[in-house]
Amino acid sequence: MELLEFRSMLEKSFAQNNLPAPDEEQTKEFWIFSEYLLEINAHTNLTAIRTLPEIVSKHYADSLLVAELIPHNACVLDVGCGAGFPSVPLAIMRKDLQITALDSTEKKLRFVAEGAKKAGISLQTCVGRAEDSKIRASLGKFDVVVSRAVARMSILSELCLPYVKIGGKLVALKASKAEEELAEAKRGVGILGGSDGIIYNRALHLLSGESEPRALIEVSKVKETPSAYPRPYASIQKKPL
Ligand code: SAH
Repeated sequence: MELLEFRSMLEKSFAQNNLPAPDEEQTKEFWIFSEYLLEINAHTNLTAIRTLPEIVSKHYADSLLVAELIPHNACVLDVGCGAGFPSVPLAIMRKDLQITALDSTEKKLRFVAEGAKKAGISLQTCVGRAEDSKIRASLGKFDVVVSRAVARMSILSELCLPYVKIGGKLVALKASKAEEELAEAKRGVGILGGSDGIIYNRALHLLSGESEPRALIEVSKVKETPSAYPRPYASIQKKPL
């Protein structure tokens, strides 16, 4: 595919989803990052989404559904970014944000760092588990923590909410069953200093013409997280709050 064809695909997908149109520089950044993703994904398993139209819809547009909930100039942490989602599309389309992408898998983080560098995208990367002690220096430091496809809300809230500053928020990007997940996580979210939570139901419009349901779960941080959290992962998983 050529850049021109890629550009019209990107523009169509963003317009379908009511997202701001990418300018020339942003289109180029997406293009370089996409080419690098296809190149590395051909021999290293970064993502199951392997074609450009799907990458555009299911990674780029999907990631950007969260953008409307992120305030201007926010300091953002993406927990479990994988191959860079939602952090990379956010870094391209929202130059006002300061973004840190965290993942426990080194090869994925290396890809994100290298892809961002090649494309000239400004983004910090950090290898590690959210519950590891070396990351804990950042507890309570972020205006917004985002996370997509990492864990169900009862587990995710313990990985993410401790990093949010009071007055900030966690926004989890979900496909479905958000109500159930939030209900199941309610007690834990309260213990971790989170508010009741709001669900925003959305539709992701694909280039194929189909739509898929999406939900954004937003939890505000209203009080300090007790220092016992996050616990080691085995405890989080075995006994979610
Ligand atoms: N957010 C990406 C990747 C989802 S796959 C996307 O939506 O495409 C889940 C990712 O979370 C994996 O890359 C895995 O390495 C990472 N992960 C799982 N648990 C984690 C933890 N406790 N801390 C940091 N990363 C974690």
